Amino acid sequence: MRDLVIIGGGPAGMSAAIAAYEQGVRDILILERDESLGGILQQCIHNGFGLHKFGEELTGPEYAWKYEQKVRELNIETKCNTMVLDITEDKVITATNAQEGIFQLQAKAIILAMGCRERSKGALNIAGSRPAGIFSAGTAQKFVNMKGYLPGKNVVILGSGDIGLIMARRMTLEGAKVHAVCELMPYSGGLARNIEQCLNDFNIPLKLSHTVVQIHGKERLEGVTIAQVDENRRPIDATREFIPCDTLLLSVGLIPENELSKAAKVDLSPITNGAVVDQDRQTSIPGVFACGNVLHVHDLVDFVSEEAEIAGKAAAAYIKGNTGKKVEIPVKTDGKVRYTVPQVITVKKDITLYFRVGSVYKNVRVNVTAGDKVILSRKRPKVAPGEMESVTIKAELLENVESLTVSLEVL
Ligand SMILES: Cc1cc2nc3c(=O)[nH]c(=O)nc-3n(C[C@H](O)[C@H](O)[C@H](O)COP(=O)(O)OP(=O)(O)OC[C@H]3O[C@@H](n4cnc5c(N)ncnc54)[C@H](O)[C@@H]3O)c2cc1C
Repeated sequence: MRDLVIIGGGPAGMSAAIAAYEQGVRDILILERDESLGGILQQCIHNGFGLHKFGEELTGPEYAWKYEQKVRELNIETKCNTMVLDITEDKVITATNAQEGIFQLQAKAIILAMGCRERSKGALNIAGSRPAGIFSAGTAQKFVNMKGYLPGKNVVILGSGDIGLIMARRMTLEGAKVHAVCELMPYSGGLARNIEQCLNDFNIPLKLSHTVVQIHGKERLEGVTIAQVDENRRPIDATREFIPCDTLLLSVGLIPENELSKAAKVDLSPITNGAVVDQDRQTSIPGVFACGNVLHVHDLVDFVSEEAEIAGKAAAAYIKGNTGKKVEIPVKTDGKVRYTVPQVITVKKDITLYFRVGSVYKNVRVNVTAGDKVILSRKRPKVAPGEMESVTIKAELLENVESLTVSLEVL
């Protein structure tokens, strides 16, 4: 029997392990399928990490290294090259590696920190052939930053998520020509700072309300046809434009890796595609916690680390037998606010609700209501789907509250 098993050795897994250790848990094991710790940050060699958490600009590997050093310093046990195959409701973990073959572990508590994967082109249904030269932006990032290969010289990027924006800059710096970033929606899915620093600084056009309608080429990509879309996101024929290119990068969303969570029958949210959790990041299964991108997609790793600390501390309390939950306050949304994390409050203490909105809204008020009473209201000049927002509710505001709704009022 292990006290705490953490699945995934990315920033979430490492931060959760350190937090649990600092709360007195010593029997901790991190299982990581990759050959080293660090998760996706290993391939994110650009800077901009750690501004919130450490007040300095770090690269992805530097940020991850700070946590890895701490994990080593505390002698927290890790097993890399170890793939977790299954977990059960009773917290039995089945994993495999080259040394031990298939093995099972029983844990008192589990923290799910498996991150997310990129949505692939299969999910897109673009007409045309399927030549070489089409990559997800993250795969291209790995080729360029870790393997030293340039996937192509003339590039079009579909989707303006942060990885696409970062790769537009990286490919340009490596000598390729990025002809356009096409975004189906009338707004970008990425952070405002990435649009400025990755596209505008390099004169790369961002074509909003545009998509790729056809792929050309047999062996190798020879070009794409793009078109503007109408308000129903249907391509407008008269706007079709052929762009010759040898590479199409897709940055069309991230999907939390919840196959293991599903196997354990953890309740998942259809909106986040991650677990439904309380303020401690505890899932519907007592003793199973989730944090980081497997819970909901984060734009900044700093918030991943913060969330993982919450899960790590709570797992430690659970292991020590502090499992009492007194209340059950569901947190609902109005549609303009798409989701919140946590989705339920089980202890009345100061709570930060993280949320994302469904569209771009300017000059708004974020209202938190209990019944028909507004208990908290915060003005924001602008909110956008690409930027995670948060509000903190003081414990005293939760007195006599049975449910909460987070909504947007456009002023
Ligand atoms: C391609 C890509 C590029 C990104 N670029 C940026 C960026 O530039 N800036 C930024 O702030 N954010 C970026 N992100 C978001 C980034 O994922 C988060 O900021 C952060 O790394 C998430 O941390 P995590 O620990 O939750 O997930 P990850 O870093 O993805 O770590 C999850 C770990 O779990 C392991 N794992 C998964 N399943 C199993 C299993 N079954 N068994 C064992 N181990 C398993 C994985 O191998 C991985 O190491 C990027 C994401 C992706 C996918």
